[in-house]
Amino acid sequence: MIQIDLTGQVAVVTGGSSGIGLATAELFLRSGASVAICGRDTERLAQAEAALKAQFPDAQLLAQSCDVLNADDVNAFAQAVQQRFGRTGMLVNNAGQGRVSKFADTTDDAWREELDLKYFSVIRPTRAFLPMLRDAAEGGAGNATVVCVNSLLALQPEPHMVATSSARAGVQNLIKSLAVELAPQHIRVNSILIGIVESGQWRRRYAKEAQPGQSWEDWTAELARKKNIPLGRFGRPEEAAQALFYLATTLSSYTTGSHIDVSGGVARHV
Ligand code: NDP
Repeated sequence: MIQIDLTGQVAVVTGGSSGIGLATAELFLRSGASVAICGRDTERLAQAEAALKAQFPDAQLLAQSCDVLNADDVNAFAQAVQQRFGRTGMLVNNAGQGRVSKFADTTDDAWREELDLKYFSVIRPTRAFLPMLRDAAEGGAGNATVVCVNSLLALQPEPHMVATSSARAGVQNLIKSLAVELAPQHIRVNSILIGIVESGQWRRRYAKEAQPGQSWEDWTAELARKKNIPLGRFGRPEEAAQALFYLATTLSSYTTGSHIDVSGGVARHV
């Protein structure tokens, strides 16, 4: 495994209390970075904070309740990061969830909610942390990055997730524009496109949809088969986290406006 020392650097992970976000926070802490995470559910956030502190007793960790769709919450989170750490150079826009619905059963309100979540979970934190990212860029001598967790649905839509797929495509387009606009300020903007990653969302679906007695392993293996995932399994949160880590750090110093596919080979395009 590639090791990189991030002592003295600060990473912010939205939705860091579960799944991919939590695995990403863990990876940053392991590399010596200070980390700020947020989520809406205070109990889940406190559990994540306790788990990270148990693993990294000396961790410089800030866990703050924040809904990324609430501008005041996001600004307060950015202010708390500024007060606690004085800076951040790495922002991971990860908070969110998918919506399963076909065109026939997606109401106007559902469309608005979905577009709101996908766009503003990127727009608000990016805007709020931009001043700190500019400082971290140090005119090109530092490291300043935004990495967004997006889905392969952006390029390969699924009709049963019509609103999510469409919103994901728009966000991928936004990321490209952001990358071009922020490049002269030495801030890089990239994304990962994930397929299916084991996480809170899928654990909740397993609890609802699995046959009585069916194990998590059997349920996910069956789904991977049905969905024709060439690698034959779901991804693990740490596999998504490693791609995020690469794009957030100087390991990817000449990459912007780009993405890494973390889908187990599901992408059909070349
Ligand atoms: P989890 O449900 O395990 O984690 C989602 C995290 O985001 C939680 O910490 C959750 O905390 C937080 N969150 C959700 N909405 C908000 C909000 N409005 N404001 C602040 N925090 C929020 O899921 P994953 O790890 O799988 O999801 C991570 C990202 O990856 C999401 O954006 C998801 O849409 C995306 N994704 C995941 C896929 C997968 O297969 N796992 C596939 C494609 C995309 P809380 O609920 O307490 O706010």
